[in-house]
Amino acid sequence: MRVYEIFNKASNSFVGLFYANYFARPGAKQGGAWMDEIQTRFVRDGNASTPAITNDCNYKKNGNGEPTLLTIDQVETINHEFGHGVHGFLSKARYQGLAGTRVKRDWVELPSQLQEGWVMANAKDPNSDLGRHYKTGEKISPALLDRIAEMQNFDSGIAGLRQTFFGMLDMKWHTADPATIASVESLEDSVCAVATLLPREGGLMSTRFGHLFGGGYAAGYYGYKWADVMAADVFAKSQENGHVYDKPFLKRVRESIYETGGTRDPAELYRELMGRDPDPDALFRREGLKPAP
Ligand SMILES: [Zn+2]
Repeated sequence: MRVYEIFNKASNSFVGLFYANYFARPGAKQGGAWMDEIQTRFVRDGNASTPAITNDCNYKKNGNGEPTLLTIDQVETINHEFGHGVHGFLSKARYQGLAGTRVKRDWVELPSQLQEGWVMANAKDPNSDLGRHYKTGEKISPALLDRIAEMQNFDSGIAGLRQTFFGMLDMKWHTADPATIASVESLEDSVCAVATLLPREGGLMSTRFGHLFGGGYAAGYYGYKWADVMAADVFAKSQENGHVYDKPFLKRVRESIYETGGTRDPAELYRELMGRDPDPDALFRREGLKPAP
């Protein structure tokens, strides 16, 4: 694990501690990747505490003294979890219960999924160190990156419909009048008809879909896809001026999304930032389902 002290460059003030815990250790960790807070920001008697935040992954460390090379997916996961971490570091909320990721369920994945966009953007940027050959320093070619992006979009239509189906199925269970539910099969078929455009195949999803009533997702599963819509929308706007990092716009992103935490209504914040409601077209373009404007 490596620990970083984070400072605000402009004010030279201490922001917090970041624990980068990326490597698997036999017996010491569980699978997956996540963000955790050792200390959340809060203000007491006029003094703000400083956050201490971890990012955990389970990557296999190269044992031969060589650097550990990661796949694009793995780098995107690092950015994703760091996005959750940044949400905590930049919080200006007074109360712990409203700081960082303690926001509404369909808002919590926006900072993390937004952060993922900069992996490919930096790989394409000739000034960035991302996407360089670890020995020769040669930058990966834009043509190859375009082909990787195309490959990532393989079957994106079906994958999107599948997520939409999960979200609508979850919402249906939580909103349907029980008197109208004839059977689990008929309820699921009715959602399939509008969400997947295909008849239901195989067994039932409802009986093995843990997030329907558990894990804090109940009636909130749609938040995954919805966060994707917002993240693609905000990211596309951040790239409109042709800069990898559009500082004036990102300052506003920081103030509206990252600093506020759960202190304000996300819909209001979004409209303030973007001047409108979320537009799904940016996601359709990113996934190759709509041509570029
Ligand atoms: Zn996440």
